[in-house]
Amino acid sequence: MSIESQDLVIVGAGTAGMPCAIEAVAAGLKVLVIEKASQVGGTLHVSLGQMSGAGTTLQRDRGIVDDAQSHLEDINRINRGTGRGDILRRTVPMQGQTIDWLMSLGFDMDPACPAVLHLHEAYRTARTYWGRRGGLSVLQAITPPFEAAMAQPNARLLMGHRAQRLVLQHGRVTGIVVEAADGSQQTIATRAVVLATGGYGASAGMFARMTGGRKLYTAAMPESQGEGIEMAEAIGAQIVGQDQFLPTYAGVVGEPGDNRIIWRQMPSLTPQVRKPWELHLDPQGRRFVREDDPSVDAREQALDRLPDLSLWCVFDDQVLEEAPPLLPGWTAEELRQAWHSHPSFVVATGVEALAAATGMDAAALSHSLAGYAAACRGERPDPMGRQHCPRPIQGPVFRAIKMHGMVLKTPAGVRINDSMQACRADGSVIEGLYVIGEAIGGSTLSGKGFVSGMSVTPALTLGRWLGGELGVRLAQRRVA
Ligand SMILES: Cc1cc2nc3c(=O)[nH]c(=O)nc-3n(C[C@H](O)[C@H](O)[C@H](O)COP(=O)(O)OP(=O)(O)OC[C@H]3O[C@@H](n4cnc5c(N)ncnc54)[C@H](O)[C@@H]3O)c2cc1C
Repeated sequence: MSIESQDLVIVGAGTAGMPCAIEAVAAGLKVLVIEKASQVGGTLHVSLGQMSGAGTTLQRDRGIVDDAQSHLEDINRINRGTGRGDILRRTVPMQGQTIDWLMSLGFDMDPACPAVLHLHEAYRTARTYWGRRGGLSVLQAITPPFEAAMAQPNARLLMGHRAQRLVLQHGRVTGIVVEAADGSQQTIATRAVVLATGGYGASAGMFARMTGGRKLYTAAMPESQGEGIEMAEAIGAQIVGQDQFLPTYAGVVGEPGDNRIIWRQMPSLTPQVRKPWELHLDPQGRRFVREDDPSVDAREQALDRLPDLSLWCVFDDQVLEEAPPLLPGWTAEELRQAWHSHPSFVVATGVEALAAATGMDAAALSHSLAGYAAACRGERPDPMGRQHCPRPIQGPVFRAIKMHGMVLKTPAGVRINDSMQACRADGSVIEGLYVIGEAIGGSTLSGKGFVSGMSVTPALTLGRWLGGELGVRLAQRRVA
């Protein structure tokens, strides 16, 4: 089946691609959407779907005074000005409207919204929103208008097709090579391509290439292989943000030896939610972080300084008995099995045995336990400045769980200008090629840090904006 020439090919029917397609079809463009997976929605299937926007109807109804300028200032404070100012100024003023748009689509908003959350560094104003089913609530809201758009005569959706490479002629993208599930390939001519292919959080190879060889621990969708970024790079686009990686603090791998983090059952490590009773030690057994630091950014930066992004969370049976659950999402049976057979879960009697079982240095481990114990007894301040020191960890039965700094979104992506056009290293534009969503690099907006809602909301917002904008731009070129 050969596919005729298009105005616009959108690669990826995920967070950014779906709203882009809705607007581009409404603008009258002849649109083809290519999706390699068997379902639409991309990362919305696993994302918490936390979004941020200022000046929303919900904020006004609750008497919360907020505007885009305050949101921008808060973002710059949180990421120390490491995001791209021009792209932030493009998206942030529209993000409140994105939330209102979702509400108009019947978005299943959690009644606690808007709120200040502490999973990432906290905003000063309540402007984070999420659905009762996380990212799935967003998907539920945008699916009917997406399906309606795809039912239009000027639209077509190709599921189970993988975009392979871009066709470049005289410096301009004029087509795209697409592979069907049976391996057959065809080239589709188009006036423009939008890459909405997401990040590379499931590609250990690309992650290593972008971070100078670091090991990947991840909760990303398996489809997040960075193909769009590599397609753009192959035709000369510059890749930026490689040095901006910051891990999310922290998770446990599912299968022994695997790099996939158990995402739905994360340990409770946010001190504003559960104060820590454990010590977090580096692979040698040394303290490296103030476990109850209220700044998640400070804890993530400390974890980032550990070369393999891995820590031992150490406690004893008294802590296990007295403290609120560290792994609240795990059933008693799951925990029993983990302590019995999962290599990330270690039980040992005595410090020497714990060191031998975990690979920590016994002297360093003893030193860490002793310094903390002295703080618990009020003899001297905790060496890391920790404030919550409920009881010494002294065994005889010790427990340790190996945890890893992990990837939710990836920082590097295609360099763009403020019209979302892909750019080369010299700043020149690759005509006919646009990039939205995580493929522009998570650090473009968040910098070296995590800013609440600043992945999903810009993906939706800039996706919608670009779809409408291309309707105008491509129509103008047709007239001209
Ligand atoms: C566990 C988790 C929790 C998160 N929580 C939050 C949060 O609360 N708030 C927040 O702001 N961000 C969060 N994020 C990040 C955020 O969800 C993502 O950055 C965002 O959803 C990515 O949107 P996207 O459109 O760029 O990519 P996606 O939504 O991943 O869509 C990309 C689509 O492109 C398709 N595709 C890829 N390559 C090809 C190809 N070659 N050909 C055809 N199709 C292709 C994929 O199959 C996919 O459907 C989270 C991420 C994870 C993993």
